[in-house]
Amino acid sequence: MPEYVVDCAFCRIIKEFEPGRFRYQDEDVVAFDDINPKARIHILIVPKEHVHSVADLPENGGEIAGKLIMAAKNLADELNIGRSGFRLVFNSGKDSGAEVDHIHLHLLGGEKLGPMG
Ligand code: AMP
Ligand code: ZN
Repeated sequence: MPEYVVDCAFCRIIKEFEPGRFRYQDEDVVAFDDINPKARIHILIVPKEHVHSVADLPENGGEIAGKLIMAAKNLADELNIGRSGFRLVFNSGKDSGAEVDHIHLHLLGGEKLGPMG
């Protein structure tokens, strides 16, 4: 089990593992539906290891970032939106409006998405 941050909502979700909740999981990554979806499909892809944000990725952080992106791509294919289109978003820091302090990749799609703000 990677480092667990007691007051982190996503560490708690990962640790408390509720059957059926995860859209995807492997030894490094989990994916689950966003509680407040901004599109018909809105999934969060999250590393099991607690890293605060993209700005806090270590020098070798490309490995975990790549795993998040590949998990998103595979989910998009499974959900048949791989070719119709989808959006991947990382928020990082105050100006982005980031709310949860555990790095996560948003996968949005399943409908025509509006312009990015
Ligand atoms: P961000 O603004 O990039 O930090 O995104 C955080 C996202 O996490 C938001 O879209 C929230 O709706 C979502 N969220 C917060 N708490 C939970 C939770 N317990 N389960 C699922 N999604 C959550
Ligand atoms: Zn965490």
